[in-house]
Formats: sequence, structure tokens, C-alpha cells
Amino acid sequence: TYVVLDNCIACKYTDCVEVCPVDCFYEGENMLVIHPDECIDCGVCEPECPADAIRPDTEPDMEKWVELNRKYAEVW
Ligand code: SF4
Repeated sequence: TYVVLDNCIACKYTDCVEVCPVDCFYEGENMLVIHPDECIDCGVCEPECPADAIRPDTEPDMEKWVELNRKYAEVW
């Protein structure tokens, strides 16, 4: 899955949301998040993010971000 990091906070772009083929972006408290169970790992959102806030969870130390993304995504 891909995850949104806190560089997203206060970013007003939603280019990532528009390109996602499965609509798995959700609005968190002050940032967007990706639902980790809905993301199909296509990667098309990553280069769209002007804040460089979208990362694959295969990078180190991503567990807490996956959990945060899940927490906010499941509110809806
Ligand atoms: Fe959506 Fe693909 Fe980004 Fe996952 S990697 S959030 S499916 S655009």
C-alpha cells in the first residue's frame, strides 16, 4: 500500500485524489490519507503529490504511518 505522510498537512492540492483509480483517498483531520486495504499499489498518485507526501510502505519505518492512514480512513 501507499501511505500519506505529514508533509501533506496544509497542502491544498488534490491531484492525488483525482488520479487514484480506486478512490481510496479519504480526508483525515488535517491531511489526506489512503485506506491501506483499498489501495491497489498502482503508484500513480506518488508523482502527483507536490508536497512529496506519498510513499510506498515498503520504505523503512512506515508502520506508524500505515496505522494513521488506516485510522483516519476508517472514520468514514
Ligand atoms: Fe490510489 Fe494507486 Fe495511490 Fe494506491 S497507489 S492510493 S491505488 S493512486
